[in-house]
Amino acid sequence: MSRFQSPRGTRDLLPSDQVVWRKVRAICEEVATLLAYQPISTPMFEEVGLFQRSLGQGTDIIDKELFLVEGRTEESSQYALRPEGTAGIVRAYIEHGMQTWPQPVRLYSIINNFRYERPQKGRYREHMQFDIEYFGDKGPFADAWVILTQWQVLTRLGLRNIHLDLNSLGTKEERAAYMEALVAHLTPLSEKLSEDSKRRLTSNPLRILDSKDANDQALLGEAPQLADFLDEESAHHIATVKSYLTSWQIPFQDNPRLVRGLDYYCHTCFEWVQVREGKSSLALGGGGRYDGLMTQLEGPDCGAVGAGLGLDRIVDLLQEQVEAPMPDPAGAYIVLADPELREAAQKIISDCLAANLRVEADFSKPSFGSQMKAAGRGGAKYAVILGKTEFEHNKVVVKSLQGGDQQEVELANLISVLKA
Ligand code: AMP
Repeated sequence: MSRFQSPRGTRDLLPSDQVVWRKVRAICEEVATLLAYQPISTPMFEEVGLFQRSLGQGTDIIDKELFLVEGRTEESSQYALRPEGTAGIVRAYIEHGMQTWPQPVRLYSIINNFRYERPQKGRYREHMQFDIEYFGDKGPFADAWVILTQWQVLTRLGLRNIHLDLNSLGTKEERAAYMEALVAHLTPLSEKLSEDSKRRLTSNPLRILDSKDANDQALLGEAPQLADFLDEESAHHIATVKSYLTSWQIPFQDNPRLVRGLDYYCHTCFEWVQVREGKSSLALGGGGRYDGLMTQLEGPDCGAVGAGLGLDRIVDLLQEQVEAPMPDPAGAYIVLADPELREAAQKIISDCLAANLRVEADFSKPSFGSQMKAAGRGGAKYAVILGKTEFEHNKVVVKSLQGGDQQEVELANLISVLKA
C-alpha cells in the first residue's frame, strides 16, 4: 500500500469513472440551459459566520460536520469549506445587487461540498451536487419550476423508480406553533425517545420527525400534524405546487414527516427518493423554499427556492446499471517514422486541432513499430505515417486501423481525407 491515500471519505475519480460523470454533468448543464438558468461559481470556502447564520446552530451540518480551515493567521482561521451551495449563492446575490436584475433570477452551479460525516457508501466527506436557486418569486410556480428541473435531469439520465416526497413547512409562525404542540406531545414520552431525539427535543424538535429510529417513529404515531397548523394561504401554496406537478406528470407523495435538516426552509420542501428492492430507499436530492434566508443575511425580502441533486449517488447508481463505455478514440494517430520529419508532424497535429479532429501521438516512443503498436492499442481510426520517401513527394500514408487498408494522401488533402 502506498504511503499516502486519498483522505477518508473522499475518492479519486479515475478516467474510467469520468465517462458517466461527464454524461451526468452534461445533462445537468443541458437542462439548466433549457429551463433558463444562468451559471454561477462561488468560492469553495466562505466565512464560517455565513454558514452559521444561514444553516443555523443546532443542525448537524454546523455542529458536527463543518470543515473549519485552520489558518496561519486570524483572518484565514475564520473560513470553512462549503457544506452546501445555497449560502454562498445567496451571499453573491445580495453582494452583487442581483435584486436589481430582471426577476426572477435563476442560477445553477455544479459544486463540490464538504461535510465531516461518517463515511459509507453513498456518504462522502466531499460530494458533488447540481445546485439550482430561483430568486425573486414568492409564488408556487417557482417551487414547481425547481422540481421540474430536477425531474428532467433524473428522467433524462434514465433513472427509474423515483418519486418525490413532498411536504409543507408553512410559515415561521405556523412552524413555531406546531413545534410547541409537538414538544408538548413528546415531553411526557421523552424517556422513551432515542438519545438523538432526546437532545433534539430542546435543540431542533422538528428533526425528531425524520428520525431513523423505529421506536421514535412509533412514538410519533399520535403526534400532531404540521398540515393542521397551516392557514389558508399556506395550504393554497402547497396545493398549487401539487397541481403544477400533476400537470407535468411528476410523481409525488405527501410525506408529513419530511422536514429536511436546514433551518431556513418554509412552505414547500421536497426530497427525491429511489425505492430499491430489498434495500432501504435512497435520497438522491432535495430542496425547498427559503424565503427567510435572504432577510436573515440582510438581503431583500424577495422569495427564494433552491435544490440540490446528489451527483455521487446518481453516478453510483448509473454505474451499477450499465458498464461504462470507453471514451471515443482519437481520429488520427500521428506516427513519426523518420525523426527528421518531427516539425512536419507537429504541423499536422496543429492542423488537426485547428480542424477539431481528435489527435494522438507519442514522439517519445523510439521506433516506428512501438508507435504503430500504441496506435492500434489506443483504438484510433487512422494512423498517419510520416516516412521519408512519401514526404519527399509531399505525401503521407494514411492507414485505417480498423480495416488495415492504406493509401498515400497529398499533405494538402490530409485533413479533408481524415474528416471524411
Ligand atoms: P442536502 O444538501 O443535505 O439536502 O443533500 C442533497 C443531496 O445531496 C442528498 O439527497 C444526497 O443525494 C446528496 N448528499 C448529501 N450529503 C452527501 C454526502 N455526504 N455524500 C454523498 N452525497 C450526499
